[in-house]
Amino acid sequence: LVRLRARLARSNSTLGQGLLAILGRSTLDEDAWTEIEETLLAADVGVGPTTELVDRLRTRLRVEGVHDPAAARVALREELLALVDPSLDRSLRSTGADGRPGVVLVVGVNGTGKTTTVGRLARVLVAEERTVVLGAADTFRAAAADQLQTWGERVGAGVVRGPEGGDPASVGFEAVQRGIADGADVVLVDTAGRLHTKAGLMDELGKVKRVIEKQAPVTEVLLVIDATTGQNGLTQARVFGEVTDVTGIVLTKLDGTARGGIVVAVQRELGVPVKYVGLGEGPDDLAPFDAEEFVDALLG
Ligand code: GDP
Repeated sequence: LVRLRARLARSNSTLGQGLLAILGRSTLDEDAWTEIEETLLAADVGVGPTTELVDRLRTRLRVEGVHDPAAARVALREELLALVDPSLDRSLRSTGADGRPGVVLVVGVNGTGKTTTVGRLARVLVAEERTVVLGAADTFRAAAADQLQTWGERVGAGVVRGPEGGDPASVGFEAVQRGIADGADVVLVDTAGRLHTKAGLMDELGKVKRVIEKQAPVTEVLLVIDATTGQNGLTQARVFGEVTDVTGIVLTKLDGTARGGIVVAVQRELGVPVKYVGLGEGPDDLAPFDAEEFVDALLG
């Protein structure tokens, strides 16, 4: 797995560098604090967390009488870390029970990197010597099933697909059935990301989940969000959070944005942790999210 810090440092240190430059000034007046706020907002940290961080940092620097840039950096690092919350459990819940595989549903809007994420996760799991079955329940895009088939061949995972336009729930069912029959450890199910209507999405995902759970519990529902889409990504998080029990977030394309603050905003929106981040287009470019590494990368 790629190192989060090394990869983020290149594209994503604008936020940290910007903040450190302002904090390094000899006087921190109102204008300086407004600039700090603007820098955080421009990086998609979100209004609530931004206000929180500024209030805490301001009080802290005043109470502690911190004047030198090195001490300000330490304070900033701790406050950023608190926002990202290092205490959250970010492990993938993929352990099955009673001889049945763990089932991970991967949901999100088309184009966010869902199928790529399923393939990369399969690669990670297979590297950990776990056997994996992939379910191509995105039956609305033939290309998605083809893409998954290629991943399956590449990493050594079985792939279950249905006819184009077929019932996503029956593909999910068959994938889990195959996982049970093969004694697989994990079944990863790629779902269709059609945000036509909220009710439609809810029906579709709900049915996939219900049908799967007749055979084995869904251990994780991962929502894939494209980090470059800002407010749109947050709206998607809200809608998916309302229609299904999201348990973890995958934030893709973090390599393509200086707005790393979306990590904080999207966790706040859903109340569940970012578990993985996508850092490029390559097959290995998925990293487990680590709060400390992330904040250190921001601060450069
Ligand atoms: P899906 O429609 O949600 O299944 O999306 P795909 O998995 O087909 O991915 C859409 C595009 O995003 C593809 O071109 C991927 O290579 C690209 N992509 C996925 N994850 C990342 C990432 O972390 N960084 C970058 N730069 N591109 C990514």
